[in-house]
Amino acid sequence: MEYTTDIAIIGSGPVGLFTVFEAGMAGYSSVVVDSLEEVGGQLTALYPEKPIYDIPGHPKVLAEELITKLKDQAAPFNPTYLLGKPVDSFLKKEDGTFTLTAGENTIHARSICLAAGGGMFAPRKPPVENIEAYEGESVFYAVRGKERFKDETIVIAGGGDSAADWAVELAPLAKHVHVIHRRAEFRAAEETVNQLHSLAENGNVTIHTPCQLKAISGQNKKLETVTIADLDGNEKTLEASKLLCFFGISPSLGPIVNWGLDMNKKTVNVEPSTMATNIEGVAAVGDIAEYGHKLHLILTGFAESALAIKTLQTYMDPDKKFKVVYSTSKGVPQA
Ligand SMILES: Cc1cc2nc3c(=O)[nH]c(=O)nc-3n(C[C@H](O)[C@H](O)[C@H](O)COP(=O)(O)OP(=O)(O)OC[C@H]3O[C@@H](n4cnc5c(N)ncnc54)[C@H](O)[C@@H]3O)c2cc1C
Repeated sequence: MEYTTDIAIIGSGPVGLFTVFEAGMAGYSSVVVDSLEEVGGQLTALYPEKPIYDIPGHPKVLAEELITKLKDQAAPFNPTYLLGKPVDSFLKKEDGTFTLTAGENTIHARSICLAAGGGMFAPRKPPVENIEAYEGESVFYAVRGKERFKDETIVIAGGGDSAADWAVELAPLAKHVHVIHRRAEFRAAEETVNQLHSLAENGNVTIHTPCQLKAISGQNKKLETVTIADLDGNEKTLEASKLLCFFGISPSLGPIVNWGLDMNKKTVNVEPSTMATNIEGVAAVGDIAEYGHKLHLILTGFAESALAIKTLQTYMDPDKKFKVVYSTSKGVPQA
């Protein structure tokens, strides 16, 4: 499908979503492209149920709750979300407008705001045959909804914070939790590791170290067993109904790296007072935007969105005088 918009926003993380709001307040339409199937970036994909404590005005807010609120805040401006497809090609035309493609979608935009964070992230998967067949039903790379794990026998693979945190958090709900890690030591916070060992001594947790996943089996997406092996290759088969793998993520910016942007390894250099990149008409905000003393925090990204929209307005409508308009005076469009 073809879309025409004022601003194409690449990335629907918290900062991309707030950019929709800032664009809308300045009178601009937006199309948001994300490779993930859901909006929310890292918050939805990596830590939806973790509380965040450093969002101004929210003493404590769950990551997924913040994303719902940001989406609601952007809703009066009717953004178009094109999800599940990474951007692939990028063309700046002679008249200064841009054409992007994302799968079967073509987006014509007057300007671009990059809010692509650390890149498209895919969870690192273990080399276990046929694992895809169980994904979404029995095999997961993040926890969304703890209830799904109630009374289940869970195998948790990994040795970092996520693996240890979720083993401790899910143990009270689960029938049993097996934790598999290829080293004897966990890399997680000491307190959590102590809790894990205490659950292994007195609760329903079994720790298998040093061990690796070897194979899984089951039927119709329903997991029945997980086979693990120690470093000498001795195998053990565990009965299990859910498998959670926490081997980190491998982010990639995809073709963005070939667009001629002034880049570091995985970030784009911007002028911090404007968020302008080296390509006129392209601004960058949030984790992808880099400058001296940058703080890679959500609250930093929110302020950057406002600066970027001012910059893009100057590019799109150079004759229009930029004026700060208070939201209290202007309000937002009513549904
Ligand atoms: C476990 C954890 C806890 C954290 N806790 C806090 C905290 O307490 N407070 C805080 O302020 N920060 C915290 N952070 C950091 C915070 O999550 C990031 O600063 C924030 O997510 C950055 O938002 P963003 O919108 O810039 O990018 P992201 O959230 O990374 O979103 C970027 C989006 O762009 C998409 N994308 C990337 N490349 C492409 C492409 N080529 N095509 C299409 N889509 C693309 C990605 O799929 C992604 O959805 C935490 C991070 C982690 C991992």
